[in-house]
Amino acid sequence: MRIECIAIGTELLTTRRLDTNSVWLGERLAHLGLGFHRKTAVGDSREDLADLFREALKRSELILTTGGLGPTFDDFTKETFAEILGADLVEDATSRADMMAFYAARKRVPPQVNFKQALIPVGAEPLRNPVGTAPGVWWKDPPGHPGVRIVMMPGVPREMKRMWEEQVEPRLETLAGRAVHTLRMVVCGVPESSLDERTREARDRHGQLEWTILANLTQVELLARGMDRAALEAARVDFEQVLGADLASIGEGNLEDAVLDQLEARGQTLTVAESMTGGLLASRLTAIPGASRTFLGGVTVYSPAAKTALLGLPVAFLAEHGTVSEATTIALAEAARRVLGATWGLAVTGNAGPGAEGEAPVGTVFLAVAGPAGTVSIDRLLPGDRPDVQLRGAAAALDFLRRQIDRS
Ligand code: AMP
Ligand code: MG
Repeated sequence: MRIECIAIGTELLTTRRLDTNSVWLGERLAHLGLGFHRKTAVGDSREDLADLFREALKRSELILTTGGLGPTFDDFTKETFAEILGADLVEDATSRADMMAFYAARKRVPPQVNFKQALIPVGAEPLRNPVGTAPGVWWKDPPGHPGVRIVMMPGVPREMKRMWEEQVEPRLETLAGRAVHTLRMVVCGVPESSLDERTREARDRHGQLEWTILANLTQVELLARGMDRAALEAARVDFEQVLGADLASIGEGNLEDAVLDQLEARGQTLTVAESMTGGLLASRLTAIPGASRTFLGGVTVYSPAAKTALLGLPVAFLAEHGTVSEATTIALAEAARRVLGATWGLAVTGNAGPGAEGEAPVGTVFLAVAGPAGTVSIDRLLPGDRPDVQLRGAAAALDFLRRQIDRS
């Protein structure tokens, strides 16, 4: 199905407002196994709208518009579609009643201009707007365009989303046949290209699913989509074998969710001592609701003085080993674990750049995990500029911890 999105509003063509509606809609369509073939933002000009609508009617089977349904002089989405399709606008009694009720509930009388919002093209259906006054429009088989569906929704994101979820999506699910399901697997510590290679055979074995690999700075997502739940489940079982310990999480969650889940399942706790990541670890962990059940807290021991005052590393020890070193990182992890009495202590030191820090080249990161069976550490050389190295360092730390917990 060829689907086109038209975001209407002059402000969307400036830097004053971003068209977030089409991004959100694109995501929701993906859940149905659908996607746009075209997206446009257009200003509040009747001529431009008419031109664009005529083209869209020729090239698309589903046309989604947002904006231009309001009561003011620059709102004419419905009017323009009705005009180019040669349909009249008639008042819809329910929409009018909804609007009167909306104002009555606020002890107000609707301004005269608002009545035009209750007008609907002949042959179309209104979509009720439970959180605003402008109804939307569902127009199936408009005159001269059998097989086409036009969906007009308000521009206000909150109103558009509610209308989409309650009234548009259910109609499209029927259209799409069945809902499409997704298997999402998060892999850390493996570059995208090697993951691609390593999973090629397995993906071929599950070739009836649609596969996507999405990499960002800190993780790679492997996505399989299909309508058959059993096929997705079979792929999950297979990929657990193929990826082994590299598979960080399955489902909606990310690395931090995986770590917190591991800890929760074992009834264990965690504390962190961060230098180079400056609080990113604590921030990622505490972004998850319920983190307090397992994440006790941590310290940002950025300066040597903080390492001494807060975690008790002797000045002489720091002078001997340096602040960016394996020995210091191990000492920080052990001290953090001891101070809070946690099951696990995780520490990160490193040099995020831009300048060299002592002996450590830019990108150097040391990670240490102190746990019930002792302390382990690794070092890495991470690419990128300062923020990249910090983000990658935090992810590498969580992943290192995850692997240690897995093994314990
Ligand atoms: P309208 O329905 O055109 O009167 O738009 C109502 C409000 O929603 C205005 O504040 C718009 O700036 C905002 N809006 C309209 N379209 C979008 C869009 N595509 N993304 C985000 N906000 C929008
Ligand atoms: Mg507008």
